[in-house]
Amino acid sequence: MHELGIVFHIIEKLEKVAKENNVKEITKVNLEIGEVSLVIPSYFLDVWKWAIKKSTYMKNCECNIIRIEAISFCEECKETFKTTKFAKICPKCLSNKTYLVTGDEVNIKDIEVLE
Ligand SMILES: [Zn+2]
Repeated sequence: MHELGIVFHIIEKLEKVAKENNVKEITKVNLEIGEVSLVIPSYFLDVWKWAIKKSTYMKNCECNIIRIEAISFCEECKETFKTTKFAKICPKCLSNKTYLVTGDEVNIKDIEVLE
């Protein structure tokens, strides 16, 4: 499962941050997940709840997922459009010279901690 690796990666990264900053506990993480990032939020949260039990600083950490809309840009006519609706084809000029601007990210936006 794809989500498993990402969850472990994020927990590992945050545990390191907590340790380096002498934080007692990380209580909440705000995570930005793009619509086309291949991460399914419900799977992600299931894995999350299981994985944090094994952590040191994140045993009660709430994970809040913020969905980021997928937007593509057309190189031909310089328009932007919703990727989930039109995929790779520009709805204005029908060009396929388009690329994703946002929507495939998995970013830690911010965290809340107990000091
Ligand atoms: Zn176009």
